[in-house]
Amino acid sequence: MTRFGKLGDFRVFSWRRPMSGKTITLEIDTEHEDLLRQYAGFLEEMKDLAASAPDGTVLDACEEAVIEKGREHQRRVLQQAVQSRLDAAEKKGAPLRRCSCGQARENRGVSSREVFTCLGSLAVRRRWWGSRCPCSPGAYHADAALGLDGGLSPRLQRKACRLAADVSFATTAEHLRELLGVSPASETLRLYCERQAGRMAKWQGQETASAETFRRAEGAHEFAVDAGKVNTREKGWRDLKIAVVQKRPAAAPAIPAEWESRVLPGATARLMWAEISASRRFRRSWHARLKRLGLPSMARLHVLGDGASWIWKAADRALSGCRQTLDIFHASQHIADAGKRLFGEGTAEATTFHEHGRDLLLKEGWTGICRLIGEELEREDTPKRRQILDRLLNYFLGHMTRLDYAGRLASGDAIGSGVVEGAAKTLGLRLKARGARWRHKNARSMAALICCRQTDQWDLFWDRAA
Ligand SMILES: [Zn+2]
Repeated sequence: MTRFGKLGDFRVFSWRRPMSGKTITLEIDTEHEDLLRQYAGFLEEMKDLAASAPDGTVLDACEEAVIEKGREHQRRVLQQAVQSRLDAAEKKGAPLRRCSCGQARENRGVSSREVFTCLGSLAVRRRWWGSRCPCSPGAYHADAALGLDGGLSPRLQRKACRLAADVSFATTAEHLRELLGVSPASETLRLYCERQAGRMAKWQGQETASAETFRRAEGAHEFAVDAGKVNTREKGWRDLKIAVVQKRPAAAPAIPAEWESRVLPGATARLMWAEISASRRFRRSWHARLKRLGLPSMARLHVLGDGASWIWKAADRALSGCRQTLDIFHASQHIADAGKRLFGEGTAEATTFHEHGRDLLLKEGWTGICRLIGEELEREDTPKRRQILDRLLNYFLGHMTRLDYAGRLASGDAIGSGVVEGAAKTLGLRLKARGARWRHKNARSMAALICCRQTDQWDLFWDRAA
């Protein structure tokens, strides 16, 4: 502050100390006088409110008033700070007044713009600068210094996107009104959020910062794949392919009986992404992404998924040499379904078949399934039973090499693909809410927004150098 010491710029300001009733004298910049007087009034007002609010309502009354009125004080501080930068950027001799070629720009008049921020709306005043040279078009050049890229501040856009990753744009608008007291229209929020989501989608596959987190993280690479649905305006329902990669330290060795009760350590690093595309296109990105995340060799990668054949075809093609495991819950469900068909739904025999079959599967994998089916055929061999058991056998035949549950439990690895199913559910809840239909481009962008919101990529995106 170069003006410090110039007496004319300061005003003596008296402040009453609340407890003692004494006053102190502050020296303040005249520029701040209004704000500080208002703030001193606010402190008095709150003290009065606390003294006069009826018993039992003091905290609620004061909290509400401090939030509402405090926000208005903060808004004024923000307005003043921002405006002072705009004024400085445009004052006489400022670089902004000249084009990079040296030609002076032409002041074509002041205009005020309303900007929604987390503290309410600001009116920012700046000038339109015309060009006399062909280098660049006329513009409100000072807006760039603020980092302004529309009618919503970057900070408010970040908060709106956070909410919009979870709930509809209409609900996002309601939440912003209730929590921050700002009310952009939900259609406005949609435009800003979809724009940021588009940037996120482009950025997500290219950023390198999370690779660093992955390299440092403890544990082995786990990769899980699944698919959901999204309704697009252009082509109706489309497959949304979802991938989750994470590092996880090994759990303590477990035996098959402990498959459900053992505790798996949490992920130390995680990324997820989704694409509306054919599996062939989707799988093409896998290898490069995993390598970038520090995967030493495909033999060290553990892939988990349900029984969908595209997943395993893609894994064989793109991740040749990886270890594979069929999600235990899907496998177990197939045994349960066969049990229902054999013995009738809800019967004790069906339950016994399911539990016994799952036991054999966990302990012996493919051999266990063969044993289960052999036992049943020995009990009774009718065309109907044979058909049901053939179907079960065929399902597991396709996954013969993905059933080493006992081995995975002993080495402390996961045997379920719950993490990607959770991601699919989260994406489905947001993208399919209330019969939503998306433009293809926006569905893709919003999927990236929702995926980033679940991982460290969220902060990395917003804190990135623009
Ligand atoms: Zn120029």
